[in-house]
Amino acid sequence: MDHFKSDLIRMEVNYRGIFQKTLGKHISTDIVYIAHEEGKTAFSNGRYSDDPQRNGVPCANFAYFSRSLSEEDLEAEASAAMDIKQAELVVVLDDTMAKGLEPWGHYGIRPVNEKVVEDGTILFVSNRKASELVSLFERKPFRYRIAIIGGEASFSGLWYFKDDMTDVRILGAIAKLNPDIASIGTVLSYVKKKYKSEEKVEAARKAYEEVKVTDVSPADGITWPYEKPALPAWDQFEEGVVVRAVKRGFSLGPRGQNRNPDFKRGTNRTERPVVRFDICTKCTLCWASCPDEAFDPVREGYYDVNYEYCTGCGRCADVCPVDDCIVMVDEMKFASNESFYEKYARDTVSYVNEIESMKGKRREIPEHITGKGKILRNVEKQKPLKEAR
Ligand code: SF4
Ligand code: SF4
Repeated sequence: MDHFKSDLIRMEVNYRGIFQKTLGKHISTDIVYIAHEEGKTAFSNGRYSDDPQRNGVPCANFAYFSRSLSEEDLEAEASAAMDIKQAELVVVLDDTMAKGLEPWGHYGIRPVNEKVVEDGTILFVSNRKASELVSLFERKPFRYRIAIIGGEASFSGLWYFKDDMTDVRILGAIAKLNPDIASIGTVLSYVKKKYKSEEKVEAARKAYEEVKVTDVSPADGITWPYEKPALPAWDQFEEGVVVRAVKRGFSLGPRGQNRNPDFKRGTNRTERPVVRFDICTKCTLCWASCPDEAFDPVREGYYDVNYEYCTGCGRCADVCPVDDCIVMVDEMKFASNESFYEKYARDTVSYVNEIESMKGKRREIPEHITGKGKILRNVEKQKPLKEAR
């Protein structure tokens, strides 16, 4: 089959489970239909181990394209795969995934650029600079490219599809980055036929024109700090079906801690909760409400978020009855998962100043707290130490 491989193009689309499931599916199926219109053989598939999905867990679809392979040959080459090993083009729909990915079926935090091949491209939707994202990647021994189309991560959701044009913008950018997958002409005519919207055609064209590309060299990036797990080879499996139980511990947490130490859920996060311990009333609501049992009781009756397990769901910030005591903050502002309570205990004033400087100026106060509907509040000034409400 090697003679076929020369024109095989592989693409991966990384998205946040549930929130971006519909968006990820639109992109990976639309690009296949577009390639079909150009007479290519192409298909897409979802990574086998991602379903059933969970909010925020890094998931992936993949797609293959070829001019020379018949459908049967392409299927034999690639479709039986449960995952993709390498890709000429990697798409990332939430830039906080630059910090690493831990999908359901791959214990251990993996680099987002792991699959990119030499001279390949990794495409982000992001308002950040390429250098900021690349500084979080694993260093690779060859050159490749990072491409960016401007924008915030689109959270379209599973049950509805918020059409902010991210889907067609990605299609336009793909045509620029790898015209062997699809030409911009075919992308635009497909978008026009499918959506009957000049606005969407224009969005795809604009992304084609505006996508920014930067070279990444072997000197860029970091030595990957996490251990990469090796999956067992076929001859290392035990006889019969063996599923090792997760060891349960019941020493901490409201319902007894059930955290699986082999699955750190920190790469689910787009935002992380930060706690102002100095205004916390120790009411226990955050600790009792956290669906992932991510709070550790610590000295003096406080509750400290363990960021290796926190998924960033925001529930603790919703239930906390003290204004601004728990606020969700952009995950990219943090370099590690160190204990915030330990930081606070070491130097209270520096801790408060640091986290206040990271918070945005807008707060959403949910309906179940106001009893009157959701309130959006602008916060102009930092709360002084110990001033609650
Ligand atoms: S955001 Fe809060 S409630 Fe959600 S997992 Fe993290 S600590 Fe728990
Ligand atoms: S919900 Fe807020 S006030 Fe209550 S213990 Fe948690 S951080 Fe403190």
